[in-house]
Amino acid sequence: MTNPGPAPVAVRHLAIPPMDATMRTRFAPAPSGELHVGNVRTALFSWALARRHGGTFLLRVEDTDRSRVTDEAYAAALEILQWIGIDWDEGPGIGGPHAPYRQSERLAIYAEAADRLRVAGAAYPCYCTAAELAERREQARAANRPPGYDGRCRRLTADERAAFEAEGRTSVLRFWMPDGTTTWNDLVRGEITIDHANVPDFAITRSDGHPLYLLAAAVDDIAMGLTHIVRGEDLVTATPRQLALYAALGHPQDHWPAFAHLPLIIGADKAPLSKRHGEVSLAWYRSQGFLPEALANYLALLGWSPGGDREFFGEDVLLAEFDVRRVSSNPARFDIKKLEALNGDWIRSLTVEDLSSRIAPVLNDAGFTDVDLAMLLAAAPLIQIRMNRLTEAPELLHFLFIDDGAFAIEEAAATKGLGEGSEAVLRAASERLHALAEWTVELIEPAVWGIGELLGLNRKRTATPLRVAITGRMVSPPLFESMELLGRERTLRRIDRAAGIGG
Ligand code: GLU
Repeated sequence: MTNPGPAPVAVRHLAIPPMDATMRTRFAPAPSGELHVGNVRTALFSWALARRHGGTFLLRVEDTDRSRVTDEAYAAALEILQWIGIDWDEGPGIGGPHAPYRQSERLAIYAEAADRLRVAGAAYPCYCTAAELAERREQARAANRPPGYDGRCRRLTADERAAFEAEGRTSVLRFWMPDGTTTWNDLVRGEITIDHANVPDFAITRSDGHPLYLLAAAVDDIAMGLTHIVRGEDLVTATPRQLALYAALGHPQDHWPAFAHLPLIIGADKAPLSKRHGEVSLAWYRSQGFLPEALANYLALLGWSPGGDREFFGEDVLLAEFDVRRVSSNPARFDIKKLEALNGDWIRSLTVEDLSSRIAPVLNDAGFTDVDLAMLLAAAPLIQIRMNRLTEAPELLHFLFIDDGAFAIEEAAATKGLGEGSEAVLRAASERLHALAEWTVELIEPAVWGIGELLGLNRKRTATPLRVAITGRMVSPPLFESMELLGRERTLRRIDRAAGIGG
């Protein structure tokens, strides 16, 4: 008996499950490389949605495609989520009632589902080769027909299958998409209707039986009892397919999750954010001195805001006020300048102790392995006001933490700042500063300006040679505070050296 195929449908999935403590949301990355800002924005919104309502947030790792997902990428994904402050109630490292949460460890579950679909006639083995599919796609295009799968293998007889197999062909399992339409009430985009004329039959397993994304995600979203699925707009077209899978797998419609498809993130040229726009991996931003608080703050602004003109806000505001229904469906522009400004605001919001503890490892990475913590605590306020990234600290504090033996003046700074007239300033400074009763900003500052007056130089021409002699740079933290911190002895040694005093 040939399979009549599924009856036509007019799916209307409009109900939204309650937004309360029964909510279950998830982040389901397929980490083939480092998580990028778009992935993490999705994670953040899904997490915030569950947290806001006291629900449950799951992490599920979609790593069925072993050729793409490495153990290293898997571990890195978990680590970077933790770094930005996203925690999960069920998932890797924690477990939960639906463990395991790593799809590569759930293969038997998908195999059983695939088999069920095959036996029920909802899916069929398809023997078409990649080359045949490509050729027919071309033909369809040339004839102005839809280029998707044409249903060729839908009704093969047992003999035809046996013949294909005798030829040595392998088969994938292909889901038979019913004719009709699917409508759902998207939490971000409102009502969406997709005509199945645009949704061809799709493969749910590879020829070796390995499950593909559409199947594995649908099976797990059912099994794990998800109520609200937050994901990127690129997956809008997966939704009618996955709802059709829910139906074919017997998942009652009143248990189907609601969907929220987040807007695209674009670059300055309005194209979807990609490597072309510069670095997009979250780990890169970490390595460049961005704070997790600032990234979470900025990513939250990509499609949402807490209202009013609040742009600087922390996790507390996000978790108390996040409303997925207020996420905009318009593309959100990623602007590193804005992120950087926000990062600066976050840096300025930290206590000196907190800032110092975050700068210490950055100094360490830059080669300052033996940083005096008291000195760092004293220096941090000087740079806090002028720094937008933690990675600016080594350059700004280099004069303080470098071994005196290794201290050198940058060539460009020497050329620019130690020109004509500078030796007179340095010699006069050496003399006057030696004689100071106490080594404090209050005494250093008037002494230095007094030299300018004596020599008839403006403040810039007075300060620049000293700045270059002492910090080795044209740009530094405030000069007098820097001198005080560096101490009389080290300061004078550098001034004398630059002036050529004492060899
Ligand atoms: N694993 C998919 C991805 O990383 C997301 C699946 C989903 O959210 O349904 O693109």
